[in-house]
Amino acid sequence: MDCIFCKIINGDIPSNKVFENDNFIAILDAFPANEGHTLIIPKKHFENIFEIDEETLKEGYAIAKKIANSIKKSLNIDNINILQNNGALAGQTVNHFHIHVIPRIENDNVIIKSSPVSIDNDKIKQIIENIKENI
Ligand code: AMP
Ligand code: ZN
Repeated sequence: MDCIFCKIINGDIPSNKVFENDNFIAILDAFPANEGHTLIIPKKHFENIFEIDEETLKEGYAIAKKIANSIKKSLNIDNINILQNNGALAGQTVNHFHIHVIPRIENDNVIIKSSPVSIDNDKIKQIIENIKENI
């Protein structure tokens, strides 16, 4: 499969690995938003949040916490974004599930912001029903 993260996991292309266990690796992002920007990647290829199983997802977030704790301690940073993109419209560029751990510092270049859209009350009720019914 032509997947850059599978190639990294297989050792076919190099990476800056900071953590590895049976199910995951964590590597430094090659185009980091800030120093310490880390990606948590399952060794098994899941395309996105819809494909990954709950157990693997839980392990991934537990590792994200370990990495966040380590960044806090080692880089002396306690402002961190944990992000995960699914689909091109959401900014996913590598179609192998991964969690971003992004350390934040004063006046950095990271922009994670939206302006609110207005939604009328009937629509909100409908959205609530739709989501509740489909969980
Ligand atoms: P996303 O946009 O959420 O799919 O994130 C993909 C991330 O992978 C981006 O932040 C890229 O900078 C990063 N990336 C792409 N290629 C590599 C690579 N070879 N090694 C490490 N990180 C990479
Ligand atoms: Zn893959």
